[in-house]
Amino acid sequence: MGVFDQMTSESHEEVLFGFDRVSGLRSIIAIHSTVLGPALGGTRFFPYPDEAAALRDVLRLSQGMTLKASAAGLDLGGGKAVIIGNPATDGSERLFRAYGRVVDSLAGRFITAEDVGTSGSDMEMIHRETPWALGIPVEEGGSGDPSPSTGQGLMAALRAVAIHIWNDDHLHGRRVAVQGVGKVGGALVELLVDAGCEVVVSDINDEAVARAVDVYGVKAVEPDEILSVPCDVLSPCAMGGVLDSASIPRLRCEAVVGSANNQLAEDEDDLRLAAVGILYAPDFVVNSGGLINVAEELSGYLPERAARRVQGVGEATGAILRRADQTGTTPHRAATEVAEERLAAIGELKRWRRRE
Ligand code: NAD
Repeated sequence: MGVFDQMTSESHEEVLFGFDRVSGLRSIIAIHSTVLGPALGGTRFFPYPDEAAALRDVLRLSQGMTLKASAAGLDLGGGKAVIIGNPATDGSERLFRAYGRVVDSLAGRFITAEDVGTSGSDMEMIHRETPWALGIPVEEGGSGDPSPSTGQGLMAALRAVAIHIWNDDHLHGRRVAVQGVGKVGGALVELLVDAGCEVVVSDINDEAVARAVDVYGVKAVEPDEILSVPCDVLSPCAMGGVLDSASIPRLRCEAVVGSANNQLAEDEDDLRLAAVGILYAPDFVVNSGGLINVAEELSGYLPERAARRVQGVGEATGAILRRADQTGTTPHRAATEVAEERLAAIGELKRWRRRE
């Protein structure tokens, strides 16, 4: 499928290819929707096998950002960017500044932040060329790494799930299995242990596992065992697509609450989960803490206000779980409806009454 056909099928507004011969920059920015506001999305630096794979990823991820921002109640649209290359060897000041100029050419229709393969210091370099880069290091006056906020938001969502299932937000004694103890998973493990949970972890990176075991005294299992660990909550915090027709029958949990984007391999997987009595808390709702935190930079970053707003992930999750019960649908479908209804309502309002 050609670029325009792909954009049409997912209703994207704009796709911008960026190139700089000297630094080797090859970037793609996808703006899915600016109905609610400027499109905000991270820049992923990844060695995609080819341009088609990079384009597929950026189109899919930017669409997810529209739903995420809408469900979080933010006045932001959905966008995402990818830089094709190896972040360990291909990143340079010239490359990030050249990319910053590409971002700047969109004049604020797209705002970026860090993502897989990019860091706060990369954002600082991009920021030299454009005001439209967030996630600037704390010492430079920004909000820093979004991962701890994503972990805080996940924890708030977990409490909302606990109230919904067990009528009690105390997580003390609950068993939680965390797949992937990187930036978000690691932050979550600390919060879970503090809350008195029994935590089981796995990671393909032995050092990450050793750190979690040594620092927090949690148990570890092999990566191929984590999904079938008997537990109250499974928290996928590694990669997407982990919940599918093969893995779902193996799950031994009551709920899934994790940070990984696009955990459902197929649209029907939420029905498969519901059919076996597992509550699936929608990924794009429960992992929105980092987005909420970084968006605070747009109005002057105040840590306390940001932390309070991140806690709102819990209320949003609870409301979606109740709506799913009331309307007889899955939480994933209820969350998609909430996001789409808000897009339609506010979009219509903006058409009807333009601000002078
Ligand atoms: P990260 O790279 O810091 O951590 C991911 C960890 O998962 C790594 O330690 C990696 O070794 C491990 N891993 C990879 N494959 C695995 C497997 N098969 N089994 C077990 N462990 C495996 O990334 P992160 O920032 O912690 O993000 C984790 C997930 O959450 C990603 O899917 C990301 O897109 C999503 N997410 C992150 C944020 C954020 O604020 N960082 C926000 C929203 C969503």
